[in-house]
Amino acid sequence: MTKPLDATVWTRREVLGVLGLGAVAATLPELASAEAPAFPRGAVIRTVLKDYAPEDLAGGATLFHEHLNLASDFMTRWTGYAAATRAANGIPPAAGAAAGRGTAPPPAPSGPFFMQDLELMSEEIRTAKQEGIGCLVDGGHPDMGRDFNVLRELSTRSGMPIVAGAGFYTQPFYPTEIAAMSEEQIAQAIIKQCETEPVGVFGEIGSWDDMTADERKVFRAIGKAHLATNMSIFTHTGIPGKAALEQLDLLEDAGVKPERIVIGHLGNLVDANVQVQKAICRRGAFVGFDRQGGPGDAQQVPMVMALIEAGFADRLMFSSDIAAAGQMKRNGGQGYAKTLTVFVPKLKAAGASDDMLRAIMVDNPRRFLAFVPKKQRKT
Ligand SMILES: [Zn+2]
Repeated sequence: MTKPLDATVWTRREVLGVLGLGAVAATLPELASAEAPAFPRGAVIRTVLKDYAPEDLAGGATLFHEHLNLASDFMTRWTGYAAATRAANGIPPAAGAAAGRGTAPPPAPSGPFFMQDLELMSEEIRTAKQEGIGCLVDGGHPDMGRDFNVLRELSTRSGMPIVAGAGFYTQPFYPTEIAAMSEEQIAQAIIKQCETEPVGVFGEIGSWDDMTADERKVFRAIGKAHLATNMSIFTHTGIPGKAALEQLDLLEDAGVKPERIVIGHLGNLVDANVQVQKAICRRGAFVGFDRQGGPGDAQQVPMVMALIEAGFADRLMFSSDIAAAGQMKRNGGQGYAKTLTVFVPKLKAAGASDDMLRAIMVDNPRRFLAFVPKKQRKT
């Protein structure tokens, strides 16, 4: 008797099997990949502690959009704004409080905000490492309350390579000065973030509903900051699919090559024909299915399979966008590795091959993140 799909959670051994990383290969990253992607000469993946050669992170999956540190009131504000925006768009409230983030996770225990508990956080991240995650990207930046030094501390304690993001998030979270700043001033402020701390990517950069004038200004500024630094960009789309193509247009018009861009949260845009997702793949950008590892997967597995069948496996990027206490293992959730331990098994059951899943989880995010720095790392 086979277990029902939703009850399938892979063990570390099963995960490493699919990733083509037997127990021995896992400790010998140079043996892990038979068909390693080629990276530009001098390319690095910049983590909070050091720059890696992209080849050195082939020993596990990279999750391109997670959260390890946020302001303690961030999710309260987020769910409040999300509920109001869904109502304004005539979209029924999501099941549970976490609108747009799939079904609500188990309720959070009382007490201090979980991300302030560095002991809990490092234990959760260590567990994800054991489950096959080789690198985590934090999608926060200062306007979301992300503290760079906390990421450094978590990386040191857990041994997990962590990439920190830079930029500005979405209209409801912008600092008030953004409205009065020019595109060039915003670009300079973003470049300053990159020079102050060794961030490794621009993200998450978003639009909340219809794109506002300020959001367009920030997207153009991110394009300028990309040209100044060479770092890649991942985005947040708010109301499902809204502004996805406009985001790509703005970044391409600013001179960013599509292969340096992930348009995010497109799993939320449920469409059997995956029209917007295909249009983005065809243009050469990545599509983010980045709230995975929960009951919402059921809607997204056929969409992912349709994109794979259309030949777009090399444009897919998976992650879980974790931001709630109830998602932590200690609180009964599936933890930071759930994209790999919960979502990927469903794709395998739907017919995706091990080689393809390995390429999506291990190679695609490294191809996305790797960049040739324009300036030497300072710290
Ligand atoms: Zn996020």
